[in-house]
Amino acid sequence: MKALTIVPGKPNSAAVQEVPEPPASDGSVLVRALELGICGTDFELISADYGWAPPGSEYLILGHESLGRVEEAPEGSGFQKGDLIVGIVRRPDPVPCIACAVGEWDMCRNGKYTERGIKERNGFGSEFWRIEPQFAVCLDSNLRDVGVLMEPSTIVAKAWDHITRIGERANWKPRCVLITGAGPIGLLAALMGKQRGLEVHVLDIVKEGPKPQLVSELGGTYHTCQVTDLNFAPDVIIECSGVTSVIAGAMSKTGNDGILCFAGVSRHHATETLDIGSINRAMVLGNAVIFGTVNANRRHYEMAEQALRKADRNWLKRLISRKEPLSNWKEALQRRPNDIKAVIQFAAD
Ligand SMILES: [Zn+2]
Repeated sequence: MKALTIVPGKPNSAAVQEVPEPPASDGSVLVRALELGICGTDFELISADYGWAPPGSEYLILGHESLGRVEEAPEGSGFQKGDLIVGIVRRPDPVPCIACAVGEWDMCRNGKYTERGIKERNGFGSEFWRIEPQFAVCLDSNLRDVGVLMEPSTIVAKAWDHITRIGERANWKPRCVLITGAGPIGLLAALMGKQRGLEVHVLDIVKEGPKPQLVSELGGTYHTCQVTDLNFAPDVIIECSGVTSVIAGAMSKTGNDGILCFAGVSRHHATETLDIGSINRAMVLGNAVIFGTVNANRRHYEMAEQALRKADRNWLKRLISRKEPLSNWKEALQRRPNDIKAVIQFAAD
């Protein structure tokens, strides 16, 4: 079968090559790939900033934003041939740590977890893949067109889950959320903010293209100014850009009882001058919380599926800028100015 692979540690080694069928040890459910979403992590993997091949293998099959159709599933697995399926990315560490021991592998304490398509496990970027039933979720068949957005939605579902848990440390009635960065994560965060009944503001550098309209169609307000120039105090800020100047602005914008969630990943050595004294004063005197979030556990996959089911399907569809067939994989891996999410199509259905 064909698979999209990289050689971890070797920049620009991405290739489509013939690889053996997925081994039974990957799981009892055999899946025919439909689509694969491409995200910033994949670009980091391709440029060799990140990524580990499975033990004993020279290459890593890329891909963690999956959508497939069940080809074979054992009785009692909860899956049937024809089901729409999405694979969970992370596997608990073998120790396991106290987080992994209770299924919260997204909070792994010792870093010995593995990840499909990222860390020591082949990803979902092959014509067929296998998975353990307990690490897969079945999707509503109506989500065929947008199901590839599940994995990024789980990241956002986890961010909102933790924001809510932090907020509920005291009597908390958030009114307004600011999202910085209008990529797929930012737009999905805006969607889930709306679904929570909040006033939604999204800030991005881009003035044209689909982003401003997508935000206004949600009923949100789109801003292209500096964070520090915004004239309102958000209860929650979700930082999705990873841009250091935006992060610095967001850190100065946390209001009383404010929560700032870092969901975007910056580059190393991207320095910014900060007034730590003022940040400390604002945080202490305002009970502010700044926290980071990554990955998602099974509960977040379930939350994400609910969010996608509730959302306007046509709006969601427009987050997928283009679907390229596997033969066009090189185009799929090119970043284009108006792209929100590029997807590689493995099979039509
Ligand atoms: Zn762990």
